[in-house]
Amino acid sequence: MGYTWPRWVFPDGFERGTGYFYYMTKYKDEKNLDIDVKLNTPATELITDDSGAVTGVVAVADDGTTYRIHSAHGVLLATGGFSANSEMLAKYDTQWGIEEGQQVKHDNSPGNTGDGIRMAEAVGAALDGMENIMMFPMGSVNDTNDVSGVGIFNGSSNLFVNTKGERFVDETASRFEICHAVFAQEVPMDFVITDNLNSGLADEDEAAIQKAIEHGSLYRGDTIAELAEAMGVEPATLEATVAQYNEACRTYHDELFGRATFADGSEIVEAPFYATPQNPVAHITIGGIVTDPDGHVLDAEGNAIPGLYAAGETVSGSCGISAFAYGRAIAKNMVNAAK
Ligand SMILES: Cc1cc2nc3c(=O)[nH]c(=O)nc-3n(C[C@H](O)[C@H](O)[C@H](O)COP(=O)(O)OP(=O)(O)OC[C@H]3O[C@@H](n4cnc5c(N)ncnc54)[C@H](O)[C@@H]3O)c2cc1C
Repeated sequence: MGYTWPRWVFPDGFERGTGYFYYMTKYKDEKNLDIDVKLNTPATELITDDSGAVTGVVAVADDGTTYRIHSAHGVLLATGGFSANSEMLAKYDTQWGIEEGQQVKHDNSPGNTGDGIRMAEAVGAALDGMENIMMFPMGSVNDTNDVSGVGIFNGSSNLFVNTKGERFVDETASRFEICHAVFAQEVPMDFVITDNLNSGLADEDEAAIQKAIEHGSLYRGDTIAELAEAMGVEPATLEATVAQYNEACRTYHDELFGRATFADGSEIVEAPFYATPQNPVAHITIGGIVTDPDGHVLDAEGNAIPGLYAAGETVSGSCGISAFAYGRAIAKNMVNAAK
């Protein structure tokens, strides 16, 4: 939910980003490359010559040392987006109501502060699509980068309820639609409800489950009514909601929200029952620096800025057309036309 095509890229043998560094370091060592990697030394500024060409960067290390690093071949910006920069989110947002001074929760790395975008803009780069900020509905309510030890993420089987215990959205809708629906609730948060079978917690270590419960990241009950009480929700309301959801799972007919896909066996029937509180968080940013297909950074007239390149999330549109508001409209029209 959120991209043009399903895609998943990860380094062989690793689940997360550390794998990229493993292979990068291995390659560097095997080839005996003379590359000096400076950790905790963020670039702060681009260096340009008299003609405006980019010839290096200024970077400041944790210990206060300032480096002026010159490059014969130019500079490649690969500094990600600006999900972790509330000020920039408020400046560019047009769809989520983010206000100046608001601290926006995010689930990205704390380094995603839009530095590359700001450095490029300072030397004349054009920016595009900056208002296209992707929120993600399943952020932790307690601590966005929290590892509680237990996580429920079983997209096709889950039921989302608001703080009154009522369904409020088609749970298989796009992350944009779900986030907007959450923000429209009286309290802008919700719970994922699931059961022993669908939660993936049946074989989970009890100590990890307890830790998550104590942390407020998970609620558990032997009946739906007991779960509702733990969540602070009216038991009869949650029971009625679960009954409606189970009926929709069984009949593939969701009279409330028209949800069309349910995994087989996704009824919420087997105790214990679980709820995870969640709220939308800034996830990735879609707009950014304008480049040509070869990665040259372009100015407002479409001319390449000599010596400046950009790649990845810092570039406008690298996350695919459907992440743009207009892209989603095109996709929706295509789906409607195909019906
Ligand atoms: C929780 C989460 C789940 C995701 N899941 C998926 C998925 O399933 N599939 C998918 O395709 N995409 C997914 N994405 C999106 C994907 O992670 C990003 O699109 C991708 O990581 C962008 O890669 P990048 O190299 O451009 O930037 P990043 O991976 O963000 O790396 C940028 C790096 O630059 C560093 N940096 C920033 N400023 C400076 C500076 N001034 N000087 C030096 N370094 C700096 C940052 O600290 C960071 O380490 C997910 C994103 C999140 C947050």
